[in-house]
Amino acid sequence: MSDRVVVVGGGISGLAAAYEADRLGRNAVVLEATDRVGGKIDSGFIDGADLPFPVDMAADGFLARQPEVVELCNELGLGDDLVSPTGARAFIWANGALRAIPSPSVLGVPFDVDAVAASGIVSAAGVADFADRIDTAAAPLAGDASVGEVLRPRVGNEVFERLIDPLLGGINAGNADGLSIDAGAAQLAEAAQAGGSLRDALQAQVNRAQAAASGPVFNGLEGGNRRIIDALGTKLGEQVRTGEAVLGLERNGTGWLVRTERGTHPADRVVLATPAWITAGLISPLAPDAAVPLANLAYGDAVLVTFVIDKAQIDHPLDGAGFLVPRTEGLLMTACSWASSKWNHYDDGRHAILRVSAGRTDDGRWLDLNPDNLVAQLRDELVETVGLRGEPTVRITPWRQSLPQYRPGHLDRCDALDAAVAATMPGVVLTGAQMRGLGLPACVRQGRAAGAA
Ligand SMILES: Cc1cc2nc3c(=O)[nH]c(=O)nc-3n(C[C@H](O)[C@H](O)[C@H](O)COP(=O)(O)OP(=O)(O)OC[C@H]3O[C@@H](n4cnc5c(N)ncnc54)[C@H](O)[C@@H]3O)c2cc1C
Repeated sequence: MSDRVVVVGGGISGLAAAYEADRLGRNAVVLEATDRVGGKIDSGFIDGADLPFPVDMAADGFLARQPEVVELCNELGLGDDLVSPTGARAFIWANGALRAIPSPSVLGVPFDVDAVAASGIVSAAGVADFADRIDTAAAPLAGDASVGEVLRPRVGNEVFERLIDPLLGGINAGNADGLSIDAGAAQLAEAAQAGGSLRDALQAQVNRAQAAASGPVFNGLEGGNRRIIDALGTKLGEQVRTGEAVLGLERNGTGWLVRTERGTHPADRVVLATPAWITAGLISPLAPDAAVPLANLAYGDAVLVTFVIDKAQIDHPLDGAGFLVPRTEGLLMTACSWASSKWNHYDDGRHAILRVSAGRTDDGRWLDLNPDNLVAQLRDELVETVGLRGEPTVRITPWRQSLPQYRPGHLDRCDALDAAVAATMPGVVLTGAQMRGLGLPACVRQGRAAGAA
């Protein structure tokens, strides 16, 4: 009889694990606590918006240069519907205006002094500080550190706070000062490990990327990323059980019994693809020490509010992908993606679709606002930033405790965790966004590896 694999958690990591186990001829079951699979991925029609397509409620794209999602889409028959962004530039809200992000840059880190000066985002003193630092040689970075520890001395505080933190802190609903450079910004870690001037290291990366470039950096999926989840669900069929929260694991000879509200599932191997605090609770009876770093892993709360309105009701031409907001600007929003300009599949020719994000680990103001006040405040900020007029149709999608915050040493802690679980709970594997990457390609990579383990 083939291996019985029980996967706990039906987000993309768990589904990818089950898909891979199934592909290898193993007998896989996915147990998902809620009534829908997909976890942090969903897409849906917006009530009252008169849009002829569903719109993503969280991730609307994924890195294409990490090929795992593209490969999975091809395997699932979705390859023809992969789309790339229009390539439009992005902006920063700074000093009362939207200003184009200076180019070139790597993960939001600029390295051309003239471009930074011309952007209008940084003061003359900030530009001078940046110019003093960007060419200064530094010793190669050894070991992990936070993005702030590494980059503040190399670019100056102002460039860090107005250009780098809005991207690297913002996408994690966190703070670039606390983010592990190894786990959260591997390209920048590589540049810092090279030593020498940051400008040279980043320029070398851009040159290499240009030489190797053979396609878009990002992809999305026409019809929304939910289609990946639905296609995985269709492949797995009755192997996916929703509404079945896992409560505990017990040893069962050389294997395991996975206990849920409805009964028990025998397993030769168990893949835990649940958020860190849930995984911590499941392993703590047998591996209490290993559970501690998981239980301590902080998560960011984010909210995505989608505004839909006639294009004529917005003064700004929305000639770009959207904008980021440095925390120094004091707005509630952290970013605004102009989905109808960024993606052709979200442009019906009539509507502007603005996906506005709020929430950082150190800014929970949105959590204290009722839905009406949240929308009113973000709407006021759209009036200020893009000249919104009229009353948009709105959808609020809260994502509480959704984005794991990788602190320095995170990857070492993952290695130690894997080793401890392998030693104390043989046959149990941990995977998911809380481990080695929260982007969709990393989740698919980790999930498939866990399913094949
Ligand atoms: C607002 C937002 C925007 C994002 N944008 C992007 C983007 O543009 N590009 C990108 O690449 N990534 C993006 N991400 C990140 C990415 O979507 C997530 O990191 C990824 O989807 C996480 O998948 P996962 O399967 O590891 O975890 P999850 O999606 O959290 O899945 C875990 C699953 O476990 C289930 N579960 C919990 N407890 C139990 C239990 N006891 N028993 C059974 N099941 C249980 C949960 O219900 C859930 O379904 C974004 C995330 C958010 C929140």
